Amino acid sequence: MSVFSDPSFDGHEQVVFAADLASGLRAIIAVHDTRLGAAVGGCRMYPYASEAEAIDDVLRLSRGMTYKSALAGLPLGGGKSVIIGDPGQDKSAALWRAMAGFIDSLGGRYVAAEDSGTSVTDLRAMSQYTEHVSGFAATEHGGDPSPSTALGVYVAIRAALAHRLGVSDLEGVRVAIQGLGHVGFALAQMLKSAGAEVLASDINFANLLRAESELGVTPVAPENILYEDVDVLAPCALGGALNADSISRLRAGIVAGAANNQLRETSDGCRLVDRGILYCPDFLINAGGIIDVHYQRSGLDRAGLREHIESIGDRLTEVLQRADRCHRPTGEIAEELAEELLGAQSKTLKQPLRSVA
Ligand code: NAD
Repeated sequence: MSVFSDPSFDGHEQVVFAADLASGLRAIIAVHDTRLGAAVGGCRMYPYASEAEAIDDVLRLSRGMTYKSALAGLPLGGGKSVIIGDPGQDKSAALWRAMAGFIDSLGGRYVAAEDSGTSVTDLRAMSQYTEHVSGFAATEHGGDPSPSTALGVYVAIRAALAHRLGVSDLEGVRVAIQGLGHVGFALAQMLKSAGAEVLASDINFANLLRAESELGVTPVAPENILYEDVDVLAPCALGGALNADSISRLRAGIVAGAANNQLRETSDGCRLVDRGILYCPDFLINAGGIIDVHYQRSGLDRAGLREHIESIGDRLTEVLQRADRCHRPTGEIAEELAEELLGAQSKTLKQPLRSVA
């Protein structure tokens, strides 16, 4: 397959294919852009059906991290890593040691954080062999940035409701959440506390039962959750939930969720505009986690963390207003804004991290 001409490649600075026969590790580390700082991004573990699928995923995700950090006003670049494997079966001390070695070989150009299929425990395991992992500090959630991600999505939902419906109160607002994992559960908790009516689904029945009994969410079958008659749909499972078929059947007026790469293809942004559905770009509104990781890495006072995450609401409003003016997909507008910020901020940097030893 070709990589350089793949649309997802999009100017990546470096892509590392890492294999370790002894531990069975097969991984890809993608460094998209280090103009603003080290490429910080999650290390995902997933049983990809093919190598091509893994390459496409890591390239799209790392590019998204560049834009995410720029829009969140962080001095970080964009990167991501994926391990091809089953998180339920393929983890071992040897695997983390090997992965940490490859991360370390990049000398800090890439810094790994938690992602789907990896946990704070896994990051700690890698931290024995490299300093270039983040997101396991002794914070109130043991370093897990998911509650911060949920807060960012919650703030975004409020901003989108204010923008679209002039609503400032969540009382009685109906929200459907797809996926009640680390982020989805915390989001459901915040929405319920604010008086919203929450419908939710999870393919993991235990997660659904817990949310039903502890939070009082209304359970919905996984195959129906995207199509509920709600004000807001929050995809918080895996990417690709929004595609030609699903978009034609959505009934929500607003889509605002944590999952990365919610649009299966770029043209899905136009499909959402055509249907009059307000899409809140995933890489803008799920930045709470990377903001949290940055605060952990830099030892910044966590008192400022909440305010920083809440600024996602203002950034989203700016994007939605621009998109309204030109009747274009919000994702395109957010990418343009990120490029503006990257251009402006990288000019002020004295030592861009371009070369590797
Ligand atoms: P998670 O793995 O803890 O939770 C995902 C949940 O979705 C699981 O409970 C899973 O059973 C469920 N699920 C999977 N497929 C489903 C389907 N078809 N229908 C319903 N439920 C389904 O992951 P997470 O940490 O909560 O992250 C959720 C999403 O947000 C992921 O796409 C992740 O990449 C993204 N994200 C997470 C963070 C973070 O801080 N954790 C930050 C940015 C983006």
